[in-house]
Formats: sequence, C-alpha cells, structure tokens
Amino acid sequence: MLSTMQDEPLSLATLLRYGSTVHSAAEVSTWTGSGSRTITFGELGEQSARLAHGLRALGVGESDRVGTFMWNNNEHMAAYGAVPAMGAVLHTLNIRLFPGQLVYVANHAEDKVVIVDASLIPLFGKYLPELKTVRHVLVANGDASALEAPAGVEVHSYEEVLAAQPSEYDYPIVDERAAAAMCYTSGTTGDPKGVSYSHRSMWLHSMQVCTTNGMALSNEDKTLAIVPMFHAMSWGLPHASLMVGASLVMPDRFLQPEPIAQILAVEKPTFAAAVPTIWSGLLHHLDANPQDISHLREVVVGGSAAPPSMMHAFEERFDVPVLHAWGMTETSPLGCVARPPSGLTTEKSWEYRYSQGRFPASVQARLVDEIEGVMPHDGEAVGELEVRGPWITASYYSPDGAEIDPSKFNDGWLRTGDVGKITPDGYLTLVDRSKDIIKSGGEWISSVDLENAVMAHGGVAEAAVIAVPDEKWDERPLVVAVVEEDLTPEQLREFLGDKVARWQLPERWAFVKEVPKTSVGKFDKKRIREQFGNGELDITMLD
Ligand code: AMP
Repeated sequence: MLSTMQDEPLSLATLLRYGSTVHSAAEVSTWTGSGSRTITFGELGEQSARLAHGLRALGVGESDRVGTFMWNNNEHMAAYGAVPAMGAVLHTLNIRLFPGQLVYVANHAEDKVVIVDASLIPLFGKYLPELKTVRHVLVANGDASALEAPAGVEVHSYEEVLAAQPSEYDYPIVDERAAAAMCYTSGTTGDPKGVSYSHRSMWLHSMQVCTTNGMALSNEDKTLAIVPMFHAMSWGLPHASLMVGASLVMPDRFLQPEPIAQILAVEKPTFAAAVPTIWSGLLHHLDANPQDISHLREVVVGGSAAPPSMMHAFEERFDVPVLHAWGMTETSPLGCVARPPSGLTTEKSWEYRYSQGRFPASVQARLVDEIEGVMPHDGEAVGELEVRGPWITASYYSPDGAEIDPSKFNDGWLRTGDVGKITPDGYLTLVDRSKDIIKSGGEWISSVDLENAVMAHGGVAEAAVIAVPDEKWDERPLVVAVVEEDLTPEQLREFLGDKVARWQLPERWAFVKEVPKTSVGKFDKKRIREQFGNGELDITMLD
C-alpha cells in the first residue's frame, strides 16, 4: 500500500526561499580585516536571484556545473543559494589544490562558468588557459579586467552582471535525486575523486546538522564557518543555516589565529567549526593574548582527530565545550558526532567525548576485517569502517560512466579507509587511517594516539607521527613536531612515559618550524614521508 502523503521533492530552492523570507532578518557577515560587511538573509535571497538570472543569461542550464574559486564570504553564500536552486550544480573548487589537480577537477567536472574572488586572480589566472570547458568567468569583489581571458572565454564583473538582473527568480521544481553540488576529495594519493550531492541528500543532511544530537543549530545561533566552503560544503553549515535561520560569519581570507581572535571579539559568534590545526593555533594565540570567548556555546572540530588535551584546554581555560565529529567528503560530511549519553559522571562522559562520535539513525556503520569478516560492535573488535545511508556516496562521479575506484565500495557500503571500533551504543573510536598505522614487530601503534599524547605537552604546538622503516621492528614511529625552543626529545619521551606503552615510545624525533598541511589544513603525512625519504628532516635518535 502506498501512503497518502504528498510527494514533495526535497529541493534546496525551498531552503533558500524559506531562509530568505521567514528568517529574512538573519545575517551573513564577511570579515574584511577590520570589520564585517553584512547582508541579511532577505538580501541574500535577492542576490541569489540576481545571480541565478545572470548565470541563466550566460547560458547556464539544468545540470550545468558552476565552479566557485572563492573564500568563505557573502558572494560564495549567494552561489550556494542560487546555483542548486536554479537546477545547476555548484562545484566548489579547492583553491589550495596543487595546480595539476585543480586543472584536473575543473576539466573532469566540466565546469562551464567559474565565479572567482578578485583576490585570487593571480592564482586562477594561471589555471584558466588550461580549463577546457569554461566559457565564462565572473570576478567578484574587484577589478575583472585584471584577469586575462584566453580565446573562447569571456570575463565579466560579478557586480555588473548582477546589477542588471531582477531580484526574484522563479526556481524550477527539480528531481530531488538530481545533483545539487559537487566536491572533490582532497586525497593525497592519485587524482581527486568527485562526489556529487543530491538535493535530497543535502536536505536530509541539513536536518541532521540542526538536530540537538547533531550540531544543534538554531535561529539563536551565529556560526563562524572557518571550515572552507570547498571542504565538504563547509560541513553542511551554509544550507543548515538557511533551514533554521542561523546567522553566519564568514572569515574570508583571514584564517590566521590573530584575525580569527579579532573576528571572535567583534562578531561574538555562538558556534564555530574548523579542523584541529586551526583550533590549536588559536589556543596558542589565546594563551599568549587572553580574551573572553565564552560567547561560543560550543565549537565543532573534525577532519582529523581532536587531541583530548586541546578539548580540555578550551573547556577548562576558556569555558568553551569542544564537540568532536567525524566525517568525509564522501559522507556529506556528517558521519558521527560525539555527544555523550546522559547521566554519566564528568570523567566517564569525557571518554565518550574523545571518541569520533555516535552514528545517527540515517548512517549505518559496520567494521570489516579482511580475514574475519564483519566484526561485532563490542567496543573492542577493530576493523575497517564501512558506512551507508542517504547522504553517503554510492560511487564517484564519472563523466563517461566508467567506474572510478570501485574498490572503495563493498556491496553497497562505502569503505572509509579508517580503522576503528564501535561500542554497543554506537560510538566510533578511530584507531587510525589504515595507511598511517605503524606496524612495529607485528603489533600496531596508532599514530593518532601518539600524536595526541605528544600534543598534550604544553610546549608542543603541532605533532604528526609517521611510520618509518626499521631493520629490527619493520616500522617504528617518527615524531615530527613544532616545539618551544628549550624542549628536548629526551624530555618529551620522558613525558610520554606514563601515557603510552613502553614498547611504543618513539626513538626518532624531528623538530621543525611547521608541520606540512594538506589543502584543507590537516597534517600532510604524504609530504612528511617525502621529507623523510629525501633526507630533509633533521632526526634525533634516542637510545
Ligand atoms: P576529508 O574527505 O578530506 O574530509 O577526509 C576524511 C577523512 O578525514 C576521514 O576518512 C578520516 O580519516 C579523517 N577524519 C575526519 N574526521 C576525523 C576525526 N574526527 N578523527 C579522526 N579522523 C578524522
């Protein structure tokens, strides 16, 4: 028997329409370096409508890809509103990809139009001649004539194109399964792989972001979205904000600890999201330059494991709870969020909060061991994490239908490449990425556990651990860290003495000025391995 319910497609146009009317007074503010330029959601709705008309006039039709090469700012938010709502596909280009990869993804996705921030022209101008399918470029926030147009490409001023357009748009009814947006993985091996999100998946994911067990976003919130809009759709925050009328603060290009602290002081957001390296940088800045940040009801950290020492520091020194979450570009990205069960002692509840989090109803998870098969969720058995659900990708985008990396999928499940365990009440604890685990004398050492233990020392700003070959043990850990001047490897190893098993204590230490980061701000272990391979690291070997 079919239900009697109306078959209303879940389309992102409804979120734009709803946010810009019912919550028209909510705001998007972009930091300029000395203050914010702010528009209301009502104005955002008008700007999005003008952009949709402008893109239509340039020939953008259903399913055409519109790339963005932008910081997190008002104009990027208008593209988030307009492009999916008009039935086209928003492709957020990662401005920090290596040149070859950037050209690859824009050509692979067949972007027809790209919206570029004027401050990024020097970078984008280098790629443009190689972008085979791009016909139009809109330059926002500056002088469009600074971008030289290759043959077959027209460059326009974003502001001029929009000025000529009406402030309302009759958004079409789209198939909820149609692509609304796409992101490419920031993987460090091989070509980036494309994931295309549907209207339906993004709608449902937005609801999950807003649930109290998720990020609990509401119209009481003002969210500082530090996580880039090109990194897994800024973790779903832009569309979730439209859904509940939460104001947004966008940092634009001001991503260093000092301007972030300034944005916090001026805008006083209630919520913020970023990867651990951003939060630890901010923590060191705040320790040296104390400031009240208790206006933040909570901050979410994901993308890499959150060091427990950092979570405690924010909560105990700055009265800001840190919420740990796990996800991937392939999972939209919200997989799980570490809200502890109720009724626990503080100490017990911390154990849950250190975990990667609890899966919501829509995300099924299982652990698979190559030899033993599917493992129990008993909090002890370890296996590769596989997930499935309505906002988990079922394949990678392929323009010609040829399968891309089918080994990442297993009988309808996405193989995450993450290794961990799950408790009977659904909490995931990751041990490591399968390729980062250190196999020492037949036993495993978790690089993440070692990193967390080293970073718990107050004199350590950053620490990444990789496996390096060892004659006796096959592999041993190498700690690459940024530390205070007078700290020695001996002192750090002594500090680890009561934190990790004796046989796991690292012998190899390299102190560096900065740990290399990926295009989305995570420790770049591939680059560290290269540095090690090229003999670029000055390694101290303890007995
Ligand atoms: P990306 O698609 O770039 O966001 O990368 C996804 C990967 O980041 C995951 O497969 C994990 O390896 C890692 N990751 C994301 N969140 C966490 C977390 N909370 N703890 C540990 N690793 C994480």
